[in-house]
Amino acid sequence: MLDSRIPEPLKNVVTQFAQLPGFGAKSAMRVALKLLEWPKEKTVDFGQAIIDLREKLCLCSRCYGLTQENPCRLCADPARSKTSLCLVPEWDSMLILEKGGFYHGQYFVLGGLFVPLDKDGQKLRIEPLLARLGEGEITEVIFALGATSDAEQTTSFVSECIKAQFPTMLLSRLAQGLPLGAEVKYMDTETLRQSLRYRQKL
Ligand SMILES: [Zn+2]
Repeated sequence: MLDSRIPEPLKNVVTQFAQLPGFGAKSAMRVALKLLEWPKEKTVDFGQAIIDLREKLCLCSRCYGLTQENPCRLCADPARSKTSLCLVPEWDSMLILEKGGFYHGQYFVLGGLFVPLDKDGQKLRIEPLLARLGEGEITEVIFALGATSDAEQTTSFVSECIKAQFPTMLLSRLAQGLPLGAEVKYMDTETLRQSLRYRQKL
């Protein structure tokens, strides 16, 4: 509980920062006081950058990656293959794969990994994924969810959902030479390239 003697505007900012990961009440207060030391213009720019984050960015309606244009550049690129779809947990994994420059198909951001308590996988974009596959262009889904136990469970859950509706869909996963527990976003490019090249049929 914040001291009632703290002026309201300061209290508001501290409360907001304290909701962010990595912040507690003390560090939130330090940040808020720092902002007060800044020249006014700099603080205003900071606030505007946060507003822009929400106003200028949206989720691509095709891959659910973050973008300023919808559909995003990757989805709109006519040179990319339309038949393979790489399934990633979050948008940052897609960035890593793109940085490698060895994958030239489509992406789909699942929105996280299956956690055991979430028995129906409700937070995952299963319906939008099935709708995308239902368009009929995709012939292979490549699971690039990582090698953690959550990733394993997600892969088996999502692959069952796909098989039930699209029995002929080719399903593959990145090769299991990945270090155990590896998350796609922390992998180096060469490991990723190899694991994509030697991907295994599910
Ligand atoms: Zn997209």
